[in-house]
Amino acid sequence: MCLLNKSLLLAIIVIIIIVVGAGLYLQLAGQVTPAEKKILRVGTSPDFPPFEYIDEQGNIVGFDIDMVRELAKMIGYDDIEIVSIDFEGLIPALQQGQIDVIAAGMTITEEREQQVDFTIPYWEADQAILVVKDSCFQPESPDDLVGKVVGVQTGTTAESYLTDLVENQGYDITIKSYSSYVLAVTDLVNGRVDAVMVDLPVARMFEKQYNVQISGIVETGEKYGLAVRKGNTELLNKLNDALTQLMQSDKWDQLVQKYFGQG
Ligand code: GLN
Repeated sequence: MCLLNKSLLLAIIVIIIIVVGAGLYLQLAGQVTPAEKKILRVGTSPDFPPFEYIDEQGNIVGFDIDMVRELAKMIGYDDIEIVSIDFEGLIPALQQGQIDVIAAGMTITEEREQQVDFTIPYWEADQAILVVKDSCFQPESPDDLVGKVVGVQTGTTAESYLTDLVENQGYDITIKSYSSYVLAVTDLVNGRVDAVMVDLPVARMFEKQYNVQISGIVETGEKYGLAVRKGNTELLNKLNDALTQLMQSDKWDQLVQKYFGQG
């Protein structure tokens, strides 16, 4: 009897060890899993509302961010990680492997296509000229910018547009380049530049947020795409399929309404 009790006790101890051990193992495995989660690293320059900006809580949000989060889910990623980088640093960061995709209202240009691969276009935009609200200076076209100081963000199509006017077409325009469009617009409000050239949808948001107004539109017919590392065809194809699907869905209309809706 006593012997039986002993072996029963032993069996119980063995069972306890197995159960506790298994529990510990599972817990450890659980801690390991997050590192194995599939994360899409997204680079953006959050000074381009409503595509990407910093909200009142300090979070990076916007149309591009919601769009990429949705696309990432569609192609089997567990989550996205947003990496904030100055616009001009985005392509180098992608090339160096710090990020997997650029979502930054980036225009598909021939020059950039030599450095990165773009998805199908997801948005179209022209350029706008911004001035201080109710200013006497109301430039309608680049011709009206002659003799003036114009602010842009470094590395943007607005910067190359103006640089081309100055270097190849003899325009006397002083270009002031900023690391972010928010800084350029702040300097406009403070009277340090005469105008800012920026993508029209973003200019419309700045009109709501700052004491500025659009005085002219330059029809550049730009198309935005997401960018991946050159040769990353697997990711590119997946993103293109998902983007095609998303753009035809109700979710897309909701997204557009959320960031470009009335008001
Ligand atoms: N669409 C412009 C470009 O690609 C500006 C983008 C931006 O400033 N985020 O250069």
